[in-house]
Amino acid sequence: MIIQVKEDISNQQKDSLILEINKVGLKITEVKTQVGTYLVGIGKGEFDIRKFGHHEGIQDIHIVSDDYKLVSKKWKVKPTSIDLGNEVFIQDGEMAIMAGPCSIESETQIQEIVQHLKENDIKIMRGGVYKPRSSPYAFRGSGIEGLKLWYSIANEAGIKIISEVMQVSQIEEMYDYVDVYQVGARNTQNFNLLDELGRIDKPVMIKRGISGTIEELLQSAEYVFSGGNEKLILCERGIRTYEKASRNTLDLNAVPILKDKSHLPVVVDPSHGIGIRKFVHQMALAGVMAGADGIIYETHSCPEKAFSDGQQTLDFSQSALLTDHIRKTFALRKTFSLL
Ligand code: PEP
Ligand code: MN
Repeated sequence: MIIQVKEDISNQQKDSLILEINKVGLKITEVKTQVGTYLVGIGKGEFDIRKFGHHEGIQDIHIVSDDYKLVSKKWKVKPTSIDLGNEVFIQDGEMAIMAGPCSIESETQIQEIVQHLKENDIKIMRGGVYKPRSSPYAFRGSGIEGLKLWYSIANEAGIKIISEVMQVSQIEEMYDYVDVYQVGARNTQNFNLLDELGRIDKPVMIKRGISGTIEELLQSAEYVFSGGNEKLILCERGIRTYEKASRNTLDLNAVPILKDKSHLPVVVDPSHGIGIRKFVHQMALAGVMAGADGIIYETHSCPEKAFSDGQQTLDFSQSALLTDHIRKTFALRKTFSLL
């Protein structure tokens, strides 16, 4: 159960409301976000909506029995729009393209990619400065100095930045230099990190865990929302299955299911999803047709020389072609009223 309370509700009104809800056996968590204040009721108690209608200070009541509530469409039907400023949005009904290298490497590399994005009217650049690597000996990122350099070049060019945050202490140091924080697949259930990201006022994109279910992804998003941050994006990036022919199994089923269950925008990452450069193109387009609100992929001027994930990274001509096809596929999708 979720009760959205009016912003001018008095403490006394709120306390008496909470007391009455507790009496029917529900425990209340109060959630205050950038948008509103919510009382989330959890428990087995029978909640009869008619008995609460007389309370002053209530704006809306919704019965949501799923484990995730605030990210559920049962409560909020209107899709969430992520506004990055300067007319850049990640939202239902639009197609956000985010492209860039796996890792931020050097000033020249950043400049080349920013130039490529500008030429193709791509407004959001991806890139990692803190890299979760399976081997401790692999390149682990250029850190905060890399991010600052990247930000100064991208900002000058009017390009927004999405970058992975791996631990709580990085949230604050990255804050002024990112437009969207990315929570990587290996950190989707790092609940301390999710709690802390709930306390900030910047968008967060949460990737699906390597072996995570759709429901677990929604619950991770619920963590951030219930901490106070509604600016959330979900990302399908493939899961680990028994299949070895591809790096991961891109679960495109998740796209319509997530869109059906949640009001949050959904992005597909075909690069990590399949992990094979020559197949990234078609999986990206499949993601568009599955109903994604955005595609995030890896590109580099010379993928063979990339510090990480070169095998799944597109060169600039492949990236330019993909961007054009994403836009054309999206335009086609819009002509189908079902999607
Ligand atoms: C990445 O985006 O470069 C990355 C490491 O992704 P994931 O967390 O999905 O593996
Ligand atoms: Mn990568």
